[in-house]
Amino acid sequence: MHNNYNEIKQYLDAHQVKLIAVSKTKPVEMIQEVFANGQMDFGENRVQELSEKATMLPKEIRWHMIGHLQKNKVKYIAPFIHLIHSVDSVELLAEINKQAVKNNRIIPCLLQIHIAEEETKFGFDKDELLALFNSNAIVEMKNVRIDGLMGMATLTNNQEQIRKEFRGLKMLFEQLKKLYFQNKNSFTQLSMGMSSDYIIAVEEGATMVRIGSLIFGERH
Ligand SMILES: *Cc1c(COP(=O)(O)O)cnc(C)c1O
Repeated sequence: MHNNYNEIKQYLDAHQVKLIAVSKTKPVEMIQEVFANGQMDFGENRVQELSEKATMLPKEIRWHMIGHLQKNKVKYIAPFIHLIHSVDSVELLAEINKQAVKNNRIIPCLLQIHIAEEETKFGFDKDELLALFNSNAIVEMKNVRIDGLMGMATLTNNQEQIRKEFRGLKMLFEQLKKLYFQNKNSFTQLSMGMSSDYIIAVEEGATMVRIGSLIFGERH
């Protein structure tokens, strides 16, 4: 595990890309080991598992929510979540804002974009995104900060297709940044790439990658 971790970390550091270690289904002992290696950012995809692990592990850990988030569960992670990568609807964003107000904090969010061919993946498409930015909805949500975009490529061995999808996401990111975030320091993060495709993602401009099985081993 550590050989993999150090190798991946070195590569990502050289490219100034942040590593989110995806620890879903893995025991806290394994997280502690990786944390002891200096890793601070961990990602989970289920609210209950994330919350339980957060109470058992060091407070310095920065927790990232990367999976589909139900509105009624936002309240459990709102007090401490570091970044929500998987905001896939305006309604969810509004609920995160509401819970952020209650907790007197600003919650950083990424908007998840549907880039894969598969019908099942959650996320906004480009038109929905433009509609959101052109409405006043985002401006009125003062307790969420839109830090950027997240996307998952199609599960395929076709490297060129994966590259094309990441490249398209990067272009959309740059376009939105120019249109809506000029002269602002926000909207700087592009979360794309997992164990099987993170090198392509880095080559195509990811600022964060989410890696699970390469660090923690296969999930069962
Ligand atoms: C599980 C998961 C990952 C990590 O997947 P690996 O293939 O194990 O690296 C990344 N992103 C999301 C959204 C996930 O659910």
